[in-house]
Amino acid sequence: MRQRSWAEPWKIKVVEPIRMTTRAERERHIRDAGFNTFLIKSEDVYIDLLTDSGTSAMSDRQWAGMMMGDEAYAGSRNYYNLEKAVRQYYGYEELIPTHQGRGAEHLLSKLMIKPGDHVPGNMYFTTTRLHQELAGATFHDVIIDEAHDPASTHPFKGDIDLKKLDALVQEVGADRVPYVCLAVTVNLAGGQPVSMANIKAVSEYCHARGIKVMLDATRAVENAWFVQQREQGMRDRTVAEILKMMCDYTDGATMSGKKDSLVNIGGWLGLRDPKLAALAQNLVVVYEGLHTYGGLAGRDLEAMAIGIGESVEEEYIRSRIGQVYYLGEALMEAGVPIVQPIGGHAVFLDAAAMLPHIPRDQFPAQALAAALYVESGVRAMERGAVSAGRDAKTGENRYPKLELVRLTIPRRVYTQAHMDVVIESVVALFEDRDKVHGLTFTYEPEYLRFFQAKFEPVGSKRVLDSAAEAADEDRRFALSE
Ligand SMILES: *Cc1c(COP(=O)(O)O)cnc(C)c1O
Repeated sequence: MRQRSWAEPWKIKVVEPIRMTTRAERERHIRDAGFNTFLIKSEDVYIDLLTDSGTSAMSDRQWAGMMMGDEAYAGSRNYYNLEKAVRQYYGYEELIPTHQGRGAEHLLSKLMIKPGDHVPGNMYFTTTRLHQELAGATFHDVIIDEAHDPASTHPFKGDIDLKKLDALVQEVGADRVPYVCLAVTVNLAGGQPVSMANIKAVSEYCHARGIKVMLDATRAVENAWFVQQREQGMRDRTVAEILKMMCDYTDGATMSGKKDSLVNIGGWLGLRDPKLAALAQNLVVVYEGLHTYGGLAGRDLEAMAIGIGESVEEEYIRSRIGQVYYLGEALMEAGVPIVQPIGGHAVFLDAAAMLPHIPRDQFPAQALAAALYVESGVRAMERGAVSAGRDAKTGENRYPKLELVRLTIPRRVYTQAHMDVVIESVVALFEDRDKVHGLTFTYEPEYLRFFQAKFEPVGSKRVLDSAAEAADEDRRFALSE
């Protein structure tokens, strides 16, 4: 019998209207936004692939859970439900809720880092590294070289290079390395997974030297799915079993529930050491709220507890990553340069390869994201030099090897037809790629500049020369000719 296609393991109960704008409107909106897609109003966006963070559609069960919020200041029942879910699926005994992932990063960095320390990690994440630096540490990227090569098809491009890690530990001494920050999957490498073998090897290396391993568990479920699909001997295990196994090698985790856990807000810090947990429980009161709510409403804790259970269902995770692959494979077939292999939460366009006429200091990825919005109303985000910021010591722009535009897929939100429109839009822009202009800063904030920076096109009024007339656009959205 022929195998049938897969489809989403849910049907739609509530809908939210979205509206296509005209090209003239979008040119105005992108200019008003300083050519930064973060500054566009959501209602002016047609298909929003800015981020998968907090943009998930919750299930009917999660919404029902919201009504079961116990909004007591202390000892809310929802806290205990979340604690139970984290213990069951991630295995950390001690749970400190936070308003989102960076709240947990803040606590962990403050608790574990002394000024002058060094924190190695598999590529950086923006907020994670900033909290480490604000606590006085120097971050070191110890990811394998393949991660920096968008064309490498290594199946576990998120792996840590143990030689790089060892060289750093030899140089600074194990006592100056409080922990290794291990991200699964690696967002800035293109949503690339880490193998179980690598997690085990890193854990053994670190624990033999008194160094802790702290997981950035933001997309650990998606990582578990890749391990199941790609790693030898893992095929017969469930995603839930693999998730638990990964966590078993680590001492704790920071978590953004806004990603894997299918909620709009929430995060946590999970720990094993009760002494460290007591310190974290004390600190959370200063920055987030009492240790049984951590800046969240009881209903948010409940939605996250339920979302964790849903996130590890095999059918769900298969369709989640299946949709990302649907988009990525179609773009590859059209010859658009993307990061390979396709990652778990997003398709990353290789802006440096696509726009070789724009120099790095004119931010090709920022320009490409702005041009894509003008072309189609699809909102993406820059992951390149603007996101990388300036070197903490020299103040110079950091130019990471990867200069990418991220098309991030929200969970359970868009259909295959939306993906088809995205494919057509990116391919149309790819054909017009020589019409994209570089950008220069007109405003640059000090911290995490990519969120709020403003730009203007270099040598042009527009980021994308506009040949298309309104008539073209109407034709593009016609049902048939
Ligand atoms: C989003 C994210 C964070 C931070 O979480 P927030 O909930 O946005 O504060 C940390 N690490 C990674 C890999 C992320 O993607």
